[in-house]
Amino acid sequence: MRIEQIWTGNDFRNFHYLIACSQTGEALVIDPLDHALCLAQAKALGVQITQIVNTHEHPDHTGGNEPLRAATNAKLLAHAKSSDAIPGIDRGLSAGDVLRVGKSVELRVLDTPGHTMTHVCLYAEFVERDAAGTESALFCGDTLFNAGAGNCHNGGDPHVLYQSFADQLVKLPDTTRVYPGHDYIARNLGFTLDREPDNQAAQALLPRVREQDMNQPLVTTLGQEKTFNVFFRLRSPALRSRLRERFPELDELASDEAIFVKLRELRNRW
Ligand SMILES: [Zn+2]
Repeated sequence: MRIEQIWTGNDFRNFHYLIACSQTGEALVIDPLDHALCLAQAKALGVQITQIVNTHEHPDHTGGNEPLRAATNAKLLAHAKSSDAIPGIDRGLSAGDVLRVGKSVELRVLDTPGHTMTHVCLYAEFVERDAAGTESALFCGDTLFNAGAGNCHNGGDPHVLYQSFADQLVKLPDTTRVYPGHDYIARNLGFTLDREPDNQAAQALLPRVREQDMNQPLVTTLGQEKTFNVFFRLRSPALRSRLRERFPELDELASDEAIFVKLRELRNRW
């Protein structure tokens, strides 16, 4: 299984993904906007794009569907309930479905509403064991970002997004690599430090990602996210006490959901 993270360099800071079976040369593309970049990457690797997945219906994740299909004849896959918003879906996706690419790639569909109400993530349980011991991967669209969470103001709901985090994402192995739909890591780490000024993981990482080559971006793991992503740090005493200064209505026993929703609200204006 080969994973190519494609940096678009556009104003939305999108990432596209090309996932290929090393044995058969078949490939799946996630969230194409810049279809030409996807085609160029496939050509460079000598693979054939046979499937396109949209994690959700926003135009910056679907905009390349038509030209990419015209060039490749690939099948289009998206949430089973998103057919009103995404034309031409060949296969509607539901929780637990398994996508196969060639002989060596299996991706499990997670139904993860919140950023929009029809959002899927793809989970590859086995990628490979590398020096860091990571062996699974999550393609999370606009649900989870490096050091952040998706916004909910274009058809979403922060309470529902919290449930997707709490019921599904938190339970995946800490060694899972995180592959989001956009690069917002520097700004998100700034938000972490606004909320948790003493967060050492965020302090250490921020200068590094500000300088990073976006064609070789840092890939975090869920275990790392739990150290610097405030949306996974809902029980941090420092985070909670600082949030109560801003929202006095939160008491010491505030639920994780209430904390998550207030963080999302603050991040909207930050
Ligand atoms: Zn979106």
